[in-house]
Amino acid sequence: KEVLSSQHSQEKPPSQETASDALRARPGPPAIVQGIEGCIGNTPLFRIKSLSDATGCEILGKAEFLNGAGQSSKDRVALSMIEMAEEHDILTPYSGDTIYEGTSGSTGISLATLARAKGYLAHICLPSDQAIEKSNLLLKLGAIVDRVPPAPIVEKDNFVNRARALAQAHTASSKTVNLTAEEGDQPEQETLDRMVRGRGFFADQFENDANWRAHYQGTGPEIFAQCEGKMDAFIAGAGTGGTISGVARYLKPLLPNITIVLADPQGSGLYNRVRYGVMFDLKEREGTRRRRQVDTIVEGIGINRVTANFEAGKELVDDAVRVTDAQALAMARWLVEKDGIFLGSSSAVNCFAAVKTAMKMGPGHRIVTVLSDSGSRHLSRFWAKAGDVGGAVDTKLEDVLNACDED
Ligand code: PMP
Repeated sequence: KEVLSSQHSQEKPPSQETASDALRARPGPPAIVQGIEGCIGNTPLFRIKSLSDATGCEILGKAEFLNGAGQSSKDRVALSMIEMAEEHDILTPYSGDTIYEGTSGSTGISLATLARAKGYLAHICLPSDQAIEKSNLLLKLGAIVDRVPPAPIVEKDNFVNRARALAQAHTASSKTVNLTAEEGDQPEQETLDRMVRGRGFFADQFENDANWRAHYQGTGPEIFAQCEGKMDAFIAGAGTGGTISGVARYLKPLLPNITIVLADPQGSGLYNRVRYGVMFDLKEREGTRRRRQVDTIVEGIGINRVTANFEAGKELVDDAVRVTDAQALAMARWLVEKDGIFLGSSSAVNCFAAVKTAMKMGPGHRIVTVLSDSGSRHLSRFWAKAGDVGGAVDTKLEDVLNACDED
């Protein structure tokens, strides 16, 4: 209650420097970079004014939606996975190699963009319940898109398993080609077609450690430098777990007192894993596993298994906040209404968890969270449900915190 006493209101602008002050103080623009890949990383960290004023904490958002290729935090990961594959001679630019991935959308968009930039083909498998604008965008980028009916990871037709199987089949056929060629046989036309297609690379964002390393080498050090080493908590959701693990692994040794908090949407098993050390009891497991894909409209975070990327940092996660769809929707609307920030669903979950953490820690703390992508990727699903924000509204933060689903 007390924490919320300085409730943000539109009549009371916070005592911050003006935008023109900030522009004057800003160092020169960044130097010229090589290609769109050069526009990844070094994203701004900004004070979310309404949430900071309302909680008495400094709540900072890392503007990952400003990454320049696919416009999400996944740009870092896509680039890291491709560069790792190139270093190990698994991918060769302009050779016709194909990158396969199972993704809820953002990673696919980043991979498809970078594939174009680097001379690869992209074949993306994504669950069919994800917002349609993501698969439309993938098609515009020239990717092959498989919209796969949502299924648990244990099933063969799960989107990740489908991508892995396609990459394996592709690589197996490439190997046949090489053998044939070495033996000096005259290849069949079908074999020649396969040669043109090059090799298949399964990016494997859930298990590939190039994922968390991208955040360990980029996102974490950037946040630490931007905060000049002064911060009290870091909040992130987990899809693959790469962000929270990579950032936590970088920050924890430097700031042993920092609190790392998982922001978890309804239907995800990670909240229980962090809080109680178990994913779910057997009864819940049956239910949530089957329900998960339709259980939340939040895209990109929440999962019912411990991936290699979550495993990499899970001992460093101190706490978890569970966020319902209604709370995420209310927070997304709030951020537009008060701050003019139009975000995707996972960012709204992160911001909600940041407020909860601020209230738990009390005023005066600095809390950093991740704004993974923009609301424009979520128009047909999450934002369709959130509706239009409307004109003269003055929502109270309590209303956001107490938002509950209709049923
Ligand atoms: N937000 C969005 C929009 C995403 O697509 C993802 C990744 N699936 C995340 C957050 C979570 O990031 P991570 O995979 O690093 O846990």
